[in-house]
Amino acid sequence: MEYAALVDVYRRLEATASNNEKTRILADLFAERAEPRSSDADDGSADISTGSDADLLSVLVTLVRGKLFAAWEPDELGVSSSLTLRAVSKATGVSEGEIEERWEATGDLGDAAAWAVENSQQRTLFSEPLGVRRVHRTLRELAEYEGAGSQDRRIDAVASLVSDADPEAARYVVRTALGHMRVGIGEGTVRDAIALAFLDGATDGDTLGTEEVTEPRSVGQSDATASDEAVAAVERAHQVTNDFPLVARTARDEGREGLAALGIELFRPVKSMLAEKAEGIEDGLDSVAPDLSSVLLEHKYDGARIQIHVDGDEVRVFTRRLEDVTAQFPDVVAAVREHVTADSCVLDGEAVGYDPDTERPVVFQEFSRRIKREYDIAELAEEIPAVVYLFDCLAVDGESLLDAPLRDRLARLDDLLDPEPLALERATHRSLADCESRDDALAAAESLYADALDAGHEGLMLKNLDAVSQPGRRVGAMMKVKPTMEPLDLVVPRAQYSEGRRSEWLGRLFLGAYDPDADAFVVVGRLATGYTDEELQEITDRLEPLVTDRDGRILDVDPELVLEVEYEEIQQSPEYESGYALRFPRFVRIRDDLAPEDADTVERVGELFDQQ
Ligand code: ATP
Repeated sequence: MEYAALVDVYRRLEATASNNEKTRILADLFAERAEPRSSDADDGSADISTGSDADLLSVLVTLVRGKLFAAWEPDELGVSSSLTLRAVSKATGVSEGEIEERWEATGDLGDAAAWAVENSQQRTLFSEPLGVRRVHRTLRELAEYEGAGSQDRRIDAVASLVSDADPEAARYVVRTALGHMRVGIGEGTVRDAIALAFLDGATDGDTLGTEEVTEPRSVGQSDATASDEAVAAVERAHQVTNDFPLVARTARDEGREGLAALGIELFRPVKSMLAEKAEGIEDGLDSVAPDLSSVLLEHKYDGARIQIHVDGDEVRVFTRRLEDVTAQFPDVVAAVREHVTADSCVLDGEAVGYDPDTERPVVFQEFSRRIKREYDIAELAEEIPAVVYLFDCLAVDGESLLDAPLRDRLARLDDLLDPEPLALERATHRSLADCESRDDALAAAESLYADALDAGHEGLMLKNLDAVSQPGRRVGAMMKVKPTMEPLDLVVPRAQYSEGRRSEWLGRLFLGAYDPDADAFVVVGRLATGYTDEELQEITDRLEPLVTDRDGRILDVDPELVLEVEYEEIQQSPEYESGYALRFPRFVRIRDDLAPEDADTVERVGELFDQQ
């Protein structure tokens, strides 16, 4: 398939704000690639037909969002703006200075690349047609370049694509290399498109009306939307595998049954199940389970959520963002090797740092240094050792436990754990099964809550022992109680330099809540206080490389930095597109453990507004 055909799809996606329309455009694109191992070679690369790379559907599913690797894959493209600038200049003969000027004017290096190709003085002698497989393969290979000369090889590879591209193709090749697609495709849109392309056509199609459809279907001109059931099937498969190409291929080749059979696999992390917030202990007790005897209470720790995969001596540790942090936690790996008796398993828990002198937990901000650390790891692990509090077991010895009730999962956890205090132990817990009355239960919960706070932990979790695991979902079968009004995790899409003493620093930050449908961030307020000078310096250092556009002292930045913010209340306000404004927001901390898409949503802000 020629890359130009995909460029056409990008343009149509960019031209519409309607999510249903975007879904249909993608569903059409996917459905056309219905044949497994399609033989439509576009660029002579179809002979490399081993593995999923040969499957055009996988390639397209990957390219539409411009994410060349899954979050848990260790690879990164290693492509910076300056490298891209040099590549575009090399391919077109247009000077870096001119391209940079154009980039500043439009705020997008992709646009600048399109302009440079348009104005190129160079004609390539041996131009090869640009196919989607070639773009996919060339960009993925960038991650493999290592050592001396690797930067030059990356520049050459990107330049080779740009020199065979027309202006439009250059725009999207560059955006893909940089990881900024700007076509507004969130995970939800890809999910819905897969459901619409491959699942709904084969069923009675509850929301598809009377339209007779055969699989695959062309949906471009119709007003079809995917059925809830089909969407749920795709969603579940994705939450468990975090691999859209795999999910798409399975939906196409094996339908719903195949999707349902996709399970947890070692060293491929599943999304974390998340908690709902209770308005207090009583609210939590009343809503978490139909019956108090099925309620389990646990300490809520303030550390980093980790998922531990074990296969014999091989141990890997993933964060909630699905990133592999095994190298950062040698102490956790050692503790797992020593205190986990199963041959293979997947465990869920919270890693907390503690002060070796007092044995009390350190604040998360302090502990988070360990997650980012790339040098002197052993020293830092001694300074801030980690203890892991385990609270779930998702698989053991090849058996998935996702569909088992929590009480069984915990029994399996107890079986495989030889606990060691301040290394690896179960989260402090108490079942309410022995309570004779609601008052007893309440007293027990209040006492465990007080214990947790006394010990320096964050609060209390309440869980339904009869509930199955729901990866990636925020569920009422797991509730949290914390003492304060819930802070929000928001993303900075725009920033302004402060005035006066702090005028070198980006101290006025626009705060964006996530809109998952549009994969965009909608402003809900402006932050100007709560940080120390050091924090402000760090925020500035983190934001300046993300700049995409500049208007005087106001910068548009890639929405990557997630901040936790407190505030007095939420007001309705016409000032921002979201319709809400936070009153007196205050900075709490940077949330490196969250991906931008994990930020609080506009919908959540609306709920909090309704609750106050
Ligand atoms: P918060 O800021 O409250 O941690 P969050 O949005 O990061 O909120 P929530 O799902 O709301 O995440 O809260 C659950 C988080 O609390 C989990 O992701 C986990 O990291 C942490 N946690 C601490 N102790 C426990 C426990 N005993 N059981 C489950 N999760 C726990």
